[in-house]
Amino acid sequence: MNFNFKTMCTRGLTFGLMSIGATGMSVAQDIDSKFASFPTYAGEDLELAILPQGIKFSLWSPEADAVRLRIYPTDRNSAPIETIDLTKSENGVWRAVASSEHMGKFYTFQVAHNGKWLAETPGVWAKAVGTNGMRAAIINLDETDPEGWAEDKGPVVESINDVVIYEMHHRDFSIHPSSGIVHKGKFLALTEEGTTTPLGDKTGIDHLKELGVTHVHILPSYDYNSVDEANLPSNQYNWGYDPFNYNAPEGSYSTDPANPAARITEMKEMVKALHEAGIGVIMDVVYNHTANNDDSNFSLTAPGYYYRHRADGSYSDASGCGNETASDRQQMRNYIINSVKYWASEYHIDGFRFDLMAIHDTETMNQVAKALKEINPSIFVYGEGWTAGDSPLAVERRALKENVAKMENIAVFSDDIRDAIKGHYSNAADRGFATGKPGNEETVKIGIVASTAHPQVDYSKGNNSKFAYASSPSQIINYVSCHDDLTLTDKLAKSMPEASADERMRAAKLAQTIVFTSQGTPFMFTGEEIFRDKKGVHNSYKSPDSINAIDWSLKNANADQFNYYKELIKLRKAHPAFRMRTAEDIAKNIVFDKVEEPNLISYSIKNNANGDQWKEIKLVFNGSDDAKVVKVGKGDWTIIAEDGKINAEGLGSTRGGKMTIAPRSALILARTK
Ligand code: CA
Repeated sequence: MNFNFKTMCTRGLTFGLMSIGATGMSVAQDIDSKFASFPTYAGEDLELAILPQGIKFSLWSPEADAVRLRIYPTDRNSAPIETIDLTKSENGVWRAVASSEHMGKFYTFQVAHNGKWLAETPGVWAKAVGTNGMRAAIINLDETDPEGWAEDKGPVVESINDVVIYEMHHRDFSIHPSSGIVHKGKFLALTEEGTTTPLGDKTGIDHLKELGVTHVHILPSYDYNSVDEANLPSNQYNWGYDPFNYNAPEGSYSTDPANPAARITEMKEMVKALHEAGIGVIMDVVYNHTANNDDSNFSLTAPGYYYRHRADGSYSDASGCGNETASDRQQMRNYIINSVKYWASEYHIDGFRFDLMAIHDTETMNQVAKALKEINPSIFVYGEGWTAGDSPLAVERRALKENVAKMENIAVFSDDIRDAIKGHYSNAADRGFATGKPGNEETVKIGIVASTAHPQVDYSKGNNSKFAYASSPSQIINYVSCHDDLTLTDKLAKSMPEASADERMRAAKLAQTIVFTSQGTPFMFTGEEIFRDKKGVHNSYKSPDSINAIDWSLKNANADQFNYYKELIKLRKAHPAFRMRTAEDIAKNIVFDKVEEPNLISYSIKNNANGDQWKEIKLVFNGSDDAKVVKVGKGDWTIIAEDGKINAEGLGSTRGGKMTIAPRSALILARTK
């Protein structure tokens, strides 16, 4: 992948419903009908299977003239020790069996297509690879299991709305000297207990436990293309949205990229350590495009098949990264489904986040969710309900946010609440509800009710969406920032340049209070709990550690911020009222108060919602620069949050009546009778 091109591959663009565009007839259609006629194979034993009688190789390549296999003694810089011709078999699969003596060796496939030998490839199903993933490895996966792996289990999740998602990049999280972690930037960083900053604040996995998040969402951890695994001391950085081998872990996160078992074992050790801490692991998966076009492993095994094309035969590009895959073709659909099943069963992954999910079709996503629930009912799936460019796939088939009602067990990110709270993601100076810009109140309410139909929410006033697109709160992920675009800290700095750091931290608290008390599932970006920034860099996908690393000494400096987040998470977890299960319950139990002032929202969650011990919870959000007065019904109220402070058990009590709410803050009251 060429970096200039990658620069254009900005993540997280929101295009919403896009026109189909003039894809026209002819070439693209010819390609589609040709590929639709290909035989397919749904089995999960493609490419490498280790059997008592030998090593079975099989490659799906229906159009190949010939296929050969090379066995190598090492992962690179060596000549093959054997070359084996594969024989064409049923379902477009080519097969050969090699001697068991080759255990521990490496292999590549090579396909002859249209009379020409293509470059060697580790295939599309390499589960173990050497340095830079160029050669696949013949190893027994059972031997990669850490001690006690058979008993390893992630947290039981009854509903996605019960989880609290923490999005993190391995290197951001542990690379800074202040982390006190030994295996900086590695999978193993998340296995180290007892790590602290020089001032004694907890870091690493202990920090996650202290914060109280239920799941970590790890940025791409499959083998990606951009970081040179043969040159790790050069400290390259990448988010990893440039997939190379989808079914093997990334080598730069292992302690030894040349040892194919190391990256597998170490990733499993990471999962196991998190599970032992009660934390689930969500993988960010990027099946929507590949790092390369003609040189990708897809192209080198079945040229053209796995991608969509334009009318002129060129690669279509809904990913903004040079190509887009074709989930609507049966073998690509089989591939995505089998790949997530593999990660769920071999690595005990608890959830999947689909990058640019709307490049995939709704049918594929429904089958993904179904297949995963069969493995483990606690697994959940969510994704970006948009594309980064137009696609030949018909709009009604795309797994768009606007089509989420067609996908019962899939959730989408709410860009509605994100932009309404903090201001538009692509306009740094733009402000939102929490930073004093009027006109976002109704869109924040759309977030509060998880984009479901509510009698008091007027969707015609929504900024990004004009209808209640979710049929259930389980379909919505609420957030105010993620790895894409400016961090919340940087967004506040750019949109409130005159404000002090304290004032910005008040705005951040208000912003996250809205997210964490809303219906749906809350999601936060790593380090925001200690007010980390990225020095104003919005697309830091390959920025150095000086931009991306979290300086954990901020945990001491911004202890008040950390404690607020911790208490906010505790509040949400303790109260099912914030986690209602149905749109009907939300419509019945959430009652908005009539307030006419801008940047002010007041509402109640009534009726001991979802079995809550609290009969009524009153939430008032004031995003303006001025104190406001609201009328609260008389009663025995416990004050949960007020003026930038929060305590899940209560800060004090009040009888209600006229109450003043401080500028840029949340007021939360609760009563049991
Ligand atoms: Ca790699």
